[in-house]
Amino acid sequence: MQTIDTYDFSGKKALIRVDFNVPLDENFVVTDDTRIKAALPTIKKVIESGGAAIIMSHFGRPKSGPEDKYSMKHLVGHFSKLLEVEVKLAPDCIGEEVKNIANALQPGEVLLLENLRFHKGEEKGDEEFAAQLSANGDCWINDAFGTAHRAHASTAVMAKFFPNDKMFGYLIESEVESLDKVLKSPSRPLTAIMGGAKVSTKITIIENLLDKVDNLILGGGMTYTFVKADGGTIGDSICENDFLETAKNIEKLAAEKGVKIYMATDVVAADSFSPDANTQVVAAGAIPDGWQGLDAGPESIKMLKKVIEESGTILWNGPVGVFEFEKFAVGSKAVGDAIVAATKKGAFSLVGGGDSVACVNKFGFTDGVSYISTAGGALLEYLEGKSLPGVAAVRGE
Ligand code: AMP
Repeated sequence: MQTIDTYDFSGKKALIRVDFNVPLDENFVVTDDTRIKAALPTIKKVIESGGAAIIMSHFGRPKSGPEDKYSMKHLVGHFSKLLEVEVKLAPDCIGEEVKNIANALQPGEVLLLENLRFHKGEEKGDEEFAAQLSANGDCWINDAFGTAHRAHASTAVMAKFFPNDKMFGYLIESEVESLDKVLKSPSRPLTAIMGGAKVSTKITIIENLLDKVDNLILGGGMTYTFVKADGGTIGDSICENDFLETAKNIEKLAAEKGVKIYMATDVVAADSFSPDANTQVVAAGAIPDGWQGLDAGPESIKMLKKVIEESGTILWNGPVGVFEFEKFAVGSKAVGDAIVAATKKGAFSLVGGGDSVACVNKFGFTDGVSYISTAGGALLEYLEGKSLPGVAAVRGE
């Protein structure tokens, strides 16, 4: 398999699929350029190795055909500034004119193609559209992990046209490597911390992780579905009654597979779902009526810290309490602290999934964890054990 570090880009035109789906304000100014910045190392590698870069991305959700508000013209200036190269803008992403512009590129030059989703063929994974995109360059680099779970023309189908000239960009390469460190070759014990509001949204991941992890910490709102399934009293805590059987089944499977499940034994209960609710610490299975569990209690925090700090690999998806409210952020902060401490001692830690990333950013743990994945849907599908078309296509699987 080719890699971006071994491939010879000199004189080549590299088609690079990136994720430039960034937010704009009402004056079409980019308000968060994280995704553009994240793509720069791959683009720089190509142009600094004597190649020209042709950048492809989707942007927003155009309904049918070109829409001015979703034109890449709004991004090209900001992108040029960040890259410190004057990027050219193509009038479309396929067609004779675009092909001629692409063919005329000199080493070190960068061309941004117009929004891929102005053509229906992109999301349909249309082979003819992929062929036309491919005609613009000599090799294909997929660096858009955020769309790797989609079998779109530019994210997967294009691989067919570059059987020997396809590779991951740096961003997707580090995502996949980090995830594989957790899922395929973890230092043991491997601990997964699954938090968040609901069991229903995490069930497939939990089931897949039962085959891989040594310890499974279940936290946040989903705790109460398990506690109720085990016969506990949960007061007004969030609970998915349709998932009581599922919860029991997870516990049974975990026992069969030798996975230890850890859940809060004491919780901070509140008399309303609000930042200034009255609170009391109660046993997780004895929450009075009118009260709801919103955070892990002090005994539980001690136990969770110990499990996390003794781990060799840690995966964190979802806060263990309502971290948005100061009073109920203690558990999630403690989990973050323990992950940072374990990482310092040599553990590999990966944080992924919207709210745990928000949590890590909010409490300043960013530098203390090994890897933060911002991939959303693609990450969740990878954790669920699904093959990602954008990854499989590059690997030729
Ligand atoms: P998710 O998007 O599934 O990871 O859920 C994250 C959300 O779960 C956050 O907004 C938390 O406030 C919320 N959450 C965590 N613990 C609880 C709880 N005990 N009760 C209600 N919501 C919770």
